[in-house]
Amino acid sequence: MSAARRIEVKGIVQGVGFRPFIYNLAHQHQLHGWVKNTSNGVIIEVEGDAEHLDPFIDQIRTLAPPLSHIDSIQYEDINPNGHTDFHILESESIPGAFVPISPDVSICDDCRQELFDPANPRYRYPFINCTNCGPRFSIIQDIPYDRPATTMASFRMCSFCQGEYDDPGNRRFHAQPVACPECGPHIWLEINGKRSAEREEALQMARALLKKGNILAIKGLGGFHLACDARNNKAVQTLRERKKRTDKPFAVMTFDPQSAQHYTQLEPAELDLLTSKERPIVLAKKKATDGLSPLVAPGNDRLGIMLPYTPLHLLLLEPQEGFPDIFVMTSANISEEPIAYTNDDATSKLENIADGFLMHDRAIHMRIDDSVVASFRDGPYFSRRARGFAPQPIPLPHSAPMLLAAGAELKNTFCLSNERYAFLSHHIGDLENAETLRSYQEAVGHYEHIFRIQPTAIACDLHPDYLATHYATERACREELPLIPVQHHHAHLAACLADNQWDKDEPVIGVILDGTGLGSDGTIWGGEFLVGNYNGFERKYHLASVPQPGGDAATLNPARMALAHLWSAGIAWEDSLPPVQHLTKEERSILERQLERSINTPPTSSMGRFFDAASALIGVRQKVTYEAQAAIELEALCMEEVQDAYPFAIEGDQLNCAPLWQALIQDLHNKTAPAILATRFHNSVIQMILETASNIRQQTGCTTIVLSGGVWQNMFLLTHCVPLLEEAGFHVLWHWRVPTNDGGIALGQIMVAMRSLELENRGK
Ligand code: ZN
Ligand code: ZN
Ligand code: FE
Repeated sequence: MSAARRIEVKGIVQGVGFRPFIYNLAHQHQLHGWVKNTSNGVIIEVEGDAEHLDPFIDQIRTLAPPLSHIDSIQYEDINPNGHTDFHILESESIPGAFVPISPDVSICDDCRQELFDPANPRYRYPFINCTNCGPRFSIIQDIPYDRPATTMASFRMCSFCQGEYDDPGNRRFHAQPVACPECGPHIWLEINGKRSAEREEALQMARALLKKGNILAIKGLGGFHLACDARNNKAVQTLRERKKRTDKPFAVMTFDPQSAQHYTQLEPAELDLLTSKERPIVLAKKKATDGLSPLVAPGNDRLGIMLPYTPLHLLLLEPQEGFPDIFVMTSANISEEPIAYTNDDATSKLENIADGFLMHDRAIHMRIDDSVVASFRDGPYFSRRARGFAPQPIPLPHSAPMLLAAGAELKNTFCLSNERYAFLSHHIGDLENAETLRSYQEAVGHYEHIFRIQPTAIACDLHPDYLATHYATERACREELPLIPVQHHHAHLAACLADNQWDKDEPVIGVILDGTGLGSDGTIWGGEFLVGNYNGFERKYHLASVPQPGGDAATLNPARMALAHLWSAGIAWEDSLPPVQHLTKEERSILERQLERSINTPPTSSMGRFFDAASALIGVRQKVTYEAQAAIELEALCMEEVQDAYPFAIEGDQLNCAPLWQALIQDLHNKTAPAILATRFHNSVIQMILETASNIRQQTGCTTIVLSGGVWQNMFLLTHCVPLLEEAGFHVLWHWRVPTNDGGIALGQIMVAMRSLELENRGK
C-alpha cells in the first residue's frame, strides 16, 4: 500500500548535515519525495510503502546527525504525488520565520584524521572542516544559513571543494565553511607590525616562539587568545605583568586528554566534558604537579583546562620532542574589556602584550569566549556559557511572546524569547566599560536580527545604575514598550526553575546565595531564603544585614568586610586578628568612624561578603584582585575529614552569625589550622541552609528547593549541600544548562516578565 507524509522538523537542523541524512534515510526505506531547508526548519515530503513511513520518522529522531538538535517532529498524511526519486530542494526563505543556529563545533575525528594525513589535499590545513564540525555561530551573518550569509562569502570555492559541497554522499555536502589550501583562508605571523611568515612557515615560527617563552596572540574561533608555555614561570610572569592581571587564574590547553590527565585529576564526567564536541574549559582538581608554573592559577585548587578545538590549535600544539605539552590560553583583552576578535583590534590593543600575532583572514562576525564548566552529578555546571553552547536555545516550559531581558551587570548575558525558545546570549562580560557596552549592544542587535525577534516588552534588573538597566530603560522609552524590572534574586530563583523546565504554579524554596543584588527594600541582598515562583516571591529569611563599608569597594577589601561583621556582632577588634593586623591603625580608626556614623555603609545581607569576611578573619585573603578571590581561596582549603560546624542563631527572619564569629575567633586563639577553620565555616553555612529550609518547609509545606546565585559556584558547598538536603527529604534543583551566577539571570527575567504580562492581560 502506497502512502505519503509531509513532515516538519524543528530545532537545530541546518548546517549540521541534516538534509543528506534525510536523503540517505529515504533511500534506505525506498521512499521518494524531497527535503528542503526553510527559515523555519526542515520540511520533508515522502511517499512509498506505508509500512516504511513510521520507521522512517522514528529513525529521523534516533539516528539524527551528531550536531543536530531536534525540538519537534510534526507530520500529516497527504495524497501521494507520484514522485519517482528523492531530491534535495533549494532553501526557502519565509519572511519572519526563524530557526535556531548551531553553535561553533570543535574539529571532528574525520577532519582530524585528514589534517594529519599527508595524502589528503587538506593535509595540515588549519581551516579544515565539514558538516559535522567547524565554525557556525561565530561566522553567521544572517539566515537561512548559506555561505553568502557567512564571513566565508569572500572566498570562492575551487572546483575540488565545490565538488564535495555539491555531492549529497560527501561529508562536506553543503558544509558552508568548506575550504582548502587552494581556495580558503590562510594564516600568517606578524611581528612588530610586519608579516614575517605565511602558512606552514608561520606555524613553525609561532611554535618556535612559544617554545622560547614568548607570548603569542593567536586568532582562534571566537576571538584571540594570548598563549605562552604554561611550564615557563618567566613567560607566565611576563604575561601577568603585561596583562596587568595579578592573580586571576589562566586557562590552559593541552594537545590531548593524556596530557590533561597529567596535570589534573579528571573524574569520568569531567573527561567527558573535556572531550565533548563543545570543548569547554573544564574546572578540574589540580594534581600536585611537577612542572606547571604556580603562577597559572595561584591559590586555586582547580585548573581550567581545555583541549584543542580547531585544526589550528592541533597544529600549534602538536607534540614534539622538547616542545611544551601545556599552554596558557587566555582570552586576549585588556583590563576586562571584551575579547579582541578582529585583526586590527588585536594588533592595536595587544601590541604591548604579545611578542607576535598568529592571525588569519577568516573574519569572526560575532566574538565569543570559551565556555567554562565544572561537573556536578555527571552533568555540566556552568560558570560561563559561551562557545560551543550559545546560541543553542533553552527550551521554555511554555510558549512565550517576543521579549528581551537585559540581564545584570557582572558576567552579563541577555536573553530573547519567542515561542518555546529562550535565546540566552553567550557571555558578554562585566558591563562596566564602554567597550563591553558596545559589544553588548551589537550582540543584542545581532541576536534580534538572526532570530527575527522584535521585543514586545523589556525586562531588566531592579538596580537603576546597571548599564544593562540603562539600556533597557532607554530602549523601552524610545520604542514605547513596557519595562518590567525584576528583583535580582527573584530572577535567580526563576532562572533555576526555568533551567529545570519547571511548569508548576506551586511555590518553591529559593536558597539564593549571591554576592550582590538590589533588594525590594532598597538594601543590598545576597544571603536569601525566598519562597516563590515565576509570579512573585516572599523573603522568608536572610543573613542579618551588616554595613558594607565603602559600598561596592568593600568587595575588594575582605579585611574591612571582616571588621564590619565583627563590629555588627559586637565583637572587639583584637590586635591578633589577621584583618586587624592587615589594616593600619589609622585605617582602622577611619573605618570605625565610618561604621559608627554610617558613612557610605549600605546595609547588606550578602553571602558573598560573608565568605569574604571569613576568608579575611581566617587569614587567607585580606585584599582581592579579582571577583570572589577570597572565597575561592577559602574553598580551596576545605577538607573532607572535618565534619563539625560553628553555632549560629535564627532570630525572627534573620540568621545571626555572632556565635559563629565568636567560635571562629576561639579557634584562632587555639591556633587551629586555617584549613580546619575554613571547613568548619563551610559546614556552618551548610547547616544554616538545612535548618532554615526545614523551618520554611514546616511553615509552608514547600518541599522543592532551588539553588541559585554566584556563591553556588562553590563546589564544596554544592557537593555537600545537595545530598544533605535530599536526605532530609527535599527535592533539590540546581542549574545545569545556564550559569548559577549572573550569567543565567536573564533567563529568569524572561520568565518573570512573561508571567507578569500574562497576569496583567488577565486582569484587563
Ligand atoms: Zn569535520
Ligand atoms: Zn578549495
Ligand atoms: Fe546575582
